[in-house]
Amino acid sequence: MTPANYQQVDVLVVGAGNAAANAALAAHEAGCSVAMLETAPEDARGGNSAFTGGAFRFVFDEVKDLIALAPDIAELDLSTIDFGTYTKEQYFDDMGRLTEYRCDPDLTEVLIGNSYAAALWLKKHGVKFQPALGRQAFKVDGKFRFWGGLACHIHGGGQHLVATLHAKLQQVGIPVLYNTTAWQFLHGDDRVEGVRVRHHGRIFDLRAKAIVMACGGFESNAEMRARYIGPNWDLAKVRGTRYNQGYGHRMAIDIGAAVAGHWSGAHAVQWDMNAPPFGDLSVGDQFQKHNYPFGVLVNARGERFLDEGKDFHSYTYAAYGHEVMKQPGLFAWQIFDSKINDLLRSEYRIPRITKEVGNTLEELAPKLTGVDTAAVLETLRAYNAAPRPDVKFDPNVHDGLRTTGLPINKTNWAQTLDTPPFHAYGVTAGVTFTFGGLKIDTSARVEDTSGEPIPGLFAAGEIAGGLYYHNYGSGTGLIAGVTFGRIAGDGAAAFARRN
Ligand SMILES: Cc1cc2nc3c(=O)[nH]c(=O)nc-3n(C[C@H](O)[C@H](O)[C@H](O)COP(=O)(O)OP(=O)(O)OC[C@H]3O[C@@H](n4cnc5c(N)ncnc54)[C@H](O)[C@@H]3O)c2cc1C
Repeated sequence: MTPANYQQVDVLVVGAGNAAANAALAAHEAGCSVAMLETAPEDARGGNSAFTGGAFRFVFDEVKDLIALAPDIAELDLSTIDFGTYTKEQYFDDMGRLTEYRCDPDLTEVLIGNSYAAALWLKKHGVKFQPALGRQAFKVDGKFRFWGGLACHIHGGGQHLVATLHAKLQQVGIPVLYNTTAWQFLHGDDRVEGVRVRHHGRIFDLRAKAIVMACGGFESNAEMRARYIGPNWDLAKVRGTRYNQGYGHRMAIDIGAAVAGHWSGAHAVQWDMNAPPFGDLSVGDQFQKHNYPFGVLVNARGERFLDEGKDFHSYTYAAYGHEVMKQPGLFAWQIFDSKINDLLRSEYRIPRITKEVGNTLEELAPKLTGVDTAAVLETLRAYNAAPRPDVKFDPNVHDGLRTTGLPINKTNWAQTLDTPPFHAYGVTAGVTFTFGGLKIDTSARVEDTSGEPIPGLFAAGEIAGGLYYHNYGSGTGLIAGVTFGRIAGDGAAAFARRN
């Protein structure tokens, strides 16, 4: 189907990523006719969802919950793996602490309460999960011990997720209209009645009984980044799709939608300084560099500027991109010695990488482009000389191996850099997605500025605001998209049936 031969459906879903696909499947399962709009061509479909590593944050109480999701776990030697638990209480604590207690409590409750069901729903639709060994648990003294609330991730990451969901959409006969950009709402007397779209330069009006907006954040739009997130954010690299331009936000605000969430906030990480301006699906998320807790981070002045070991990377990585953006030249270098090589994630071994190596720190320092050599050597000397308690390094826990007496101390995992060769990685800020979105209620209905639902209009995924402020715990975005996508699809189907 194209816009030229579109036939009116009950539920029209804008977007073709994770939230959109789950909304479409839910509306279909509720007995409605459904179509989806994707601004990208087919080979670039799936938005940011296609770029993800597949981390998935959900509540589980015991290993059997994980086995129900990833049956292969039963084949592992479970005496060597401590999965721990991730209870509702832990999830609430994480959401509260990370957002400085600003996350919408009602939406957060829905997110957490439905998180395990969301994982099972994906499994039901063919998505495979695997334990995140080596990623969220390191082997110490013969045993893996999980930290950070992420026991399983999607096998094959975002590309498997998007391919599986799209295969399902095709199997049940939900058409996706590619190269079709939602541009405006068609608004009747009392409700949203359709979407005006652009398709290869032509305008079409597509009518439907209910609309689900699931067209991502506005992170791909440099003008909006500068306007909302702030100075220099137009210069940030974009980790994922180039197609999330914020049109959905604008369309909805134009008809009186209320906004929610942290409009000057965004998820931003350390990302290879020579990565392309937008994500590259052949590399996926691998331009990221998430093992800084085991090293030292310096700026152009050769100074450390944050506590690399403040917490597990899952709880700092989305905020530390912002710290890099505050540095002169908007870049930094991560420096490691060879003791921790076995802990480094695969992203440190890709061919397209900004990496320097030296047999001594003196040999490495001049290779760090843009960095004051004398100053960085002084910083590393002071770091290596800083007193540490007599505790054992342990990457699976907050080990308390901390420096004291430095202008900025490193509070965990602060081993000395003493084992050659030394290696360093050049990073800048890569923006993942934006935190500002439309205000929805717990039924995923978009509210207007007086707090009333806009009849016929639903939203899910990153276009819906209210869950994230200041920071983010890894693996929350996909689960939010599944959970609210399902709710939006169900709600849109019910609305379409009533009308
Ligand atoms: C590199 C990277 C790694 C990540 N890793 C993880 C992870 O491991 N775990 C996790 O939970 N989250 C991760 N995330 C975040 C995750 O990608 C998002 O939370 C999630 O995919 C958002 O889903 P969505 O459906 O809301 O948006 P998207 O997946 O971005 O989908 C938006 C869709 O809307 C389309 N679109 C946009 N505008 C229009 C328009 N006007 N008309 C029609 N279509 C439009 C886009 O083309 C796209 O298909 C990662 C993100 C990136 C970039």
